[in-house]
Amino acid sequence: MGAAGAVARAACRAAPARHQGLCRDCRRHAHTVPARPLSRYRCEQSAGSGQRGRRRALRAAAAARDGDPGSDGAADAGDVMALMRAPLQLRSRPAIFLDKDGTLLEDVPYNVDPARIALAPGAGEGLRMLGATGSPLIVVSNQPGVALGLFPEAALEGVAKRLGELFALHGATLGGFYFCPHAPAADGSIHCACRKPGDGLLRQAAEAHGLALEGSWMIGDILNDVEAGRRAGCQTILIANGNETLWQPGRLRVPDYIVGRFDEAAAIVIAQQARHAPRAQHLRAVA
Ligand SMILES: [Zn+2]
Repeated sequence: MGAAGAVARAACRAAPARHQGLCRDCRRHAHTVPARPLSRYRCEQSAGSGQRGRRRALRAAAAARDGDPGSDGAADAGDVMALMRAPLQLRSRPAIFLDKDGTLLEDVPYNVDPARIALAPGAGEGLRMLGATGSPLIVVSNQPGVALGLFPEAALEGVAKRLGELFALHGATLGGFYFCPHAPAADGSIHCACRKPGDGLLRQAAEAHGLALEGSWMIGDILNDVEAGRRAGCQTILIANGNETLWQPGRLRVPDYIVGRFDEAAAIVIAQQARHAPRAQHLRAVA
């Protein structure tokens, strides 16, 4: 973990939708959030009595992966922010992208107080499992509280620091924390490429760290996470813990797997990696 804990953001204005690049060294440049008239925000309820399914992994969409980059919903330009927590030596390998609130952490709306950050059920064990895979673990999070003026961008430094501590407590390493500081417009429309269900955060992380999106995973608790992952070409797991309430349909909003807890999602990633590893070794052997 970089001791400096530099909050970093890369402002990528007017970047093409499909190639939201990291256009500045986010460790050296900090920028203010561009003001926008913003008023609405995804306000989910806490899981409360979330399901505690055991092994309820479902293969939800065997034939659903069509690689369609998507033609609905996502914005096509905007600013991308990133909070980079660690120097990475990651080249062209798949990552595991994790939503933060409601997925990795208990959902406390707009919280940036490190003392109130707590792992969601199963997340500690799940982090231990995912950490053992060696795949980079990247947190991707919508943080409209910045644009709404509810907390300053710098407050996310403390969040990232606490996340890093929680990862380390469970034998894992936080590979990066990417967040969208924007909020939707009053009519709900999105005007940046980074806010999920857009895939800007994932693509920015991939470009910055040389990650292969194909073969990567996106784990989240709502369908916007699923859509972001599928737009980026990742496999997706929905933790159906009660946080998704709208269930807005769409061809990119069908998860590959549905589970009840974070550790169950981790088990799927591990099982699938194990399943594909022998094939990769075989290919290397015959190459
Ligand atoms: Zn954004």
